[in-house]
Amino acid sequence: MSLTLDPKAWFSESLMDTGIAFSLKTVKKLHEEQSPFQFIEIYETETFGTLMVIDGAIMLSDRDNFLYHEMMSHPVLFTHANPKRVLIIGGGDCGTLREVLKHPGVEKAQQVDIDERVTRLAEKYFPELCDANGDPRAELHFADGIKWVKEAADGSYDVIIIDSTDPVGPAEGLFTKAFYKDCFRSLAAGGYIVQQSESPLLHMHLIRDIYHALDDAGFRDIATLNFPQCVYPSGWWSATMACKDGPIAKFRREDAAKADLKTHYYTADIHQGALAIPPFFKQALYKD
Ligand code: SAM
Repeated sequence: MSLTLDPKAWFSESLMDTGIAFSLKTVKKLHEEQSPFQFIEIYETETFGTLMVIDGAIMLSDRDNFLYHEMMSHPVLFTHANPKRVLIIGGGDCGTLREVLKHPGVEKAQQVDIDERVTRLAEKYFPELCDANGDPRAELHFADGIKWVKEAADGSYDVIIIDSTDPVGPAEGLFTKAFYKDCFRSLAAGGYIVQQSESPLLHMHLIRDIYHALDDAGFRDIATLNFPQCVYPSGWWSATMACKDGPIAKFRREDAAKADLKTHYYTADIHQGALAIPPFFKQALYKD
């Protein structure tokens, strides 16, 4: 059954180069603005709660953002031996920051988003994602993450989480060898980077490029976690993790199992399962 959607009653994100679109029935548009960096829209939807859209791409909804925010933070933090200093590039909605601060061993979490308006709108329309912003360990900075990392001192961080928009516009430089080299230098020994790496079904070419750029930047071992994320293209998403100086460690399963993180998706078993990579993925990564 094909239906024509009334644009006044539906928000649709169309992925031009993939021939697919994703739509959510809307109740009303709550806000829109052109920030100095991007066009930001907020909608009330019929079944997914509040929705944030940046430059026409869905960022998050009330209903399913937990999947992404939990999987962008807990796997890498339980893989690092003892993460204390965390940098989040992007993440302006503050959902990833909230998950990072659930780890009592984290002593400082710096969030660097280029667009302050994203955070100010998140404070208004997604207040529950911002409820850890007052944590004394949290620092919110508004700057270009590329410049921030370039200027960071060697060995400044244990974990860098790149929770950015897609590799276009201001985020394009966050998927390059030059940026990864600065990340490599600013990580301490045993440090990890993790980056949202788009859809395994639709974007294997991009994931392949990320692997090559990370390898060229000096990261020796790279792994991709995959997980569901309904509002993102294909509903199947990924995060690619790399270790600064050695094989990606076995994650601290006992710590993950006994931690009382009050998550809705992440568990030690989910973590283990997310690391399982299907044959097509391996073939696409390593084909010449
Ligand atoms: N989960 C979303 C996704 O996968 O598309 C990302 C959410 S978060 C809102 C993305 C953030 O990246 C935005 O707030 C945007 O301002 C930020 N961003 C884009 N380019 C950036 C850059 N060069 N430095 C820092 N933040 C950047």
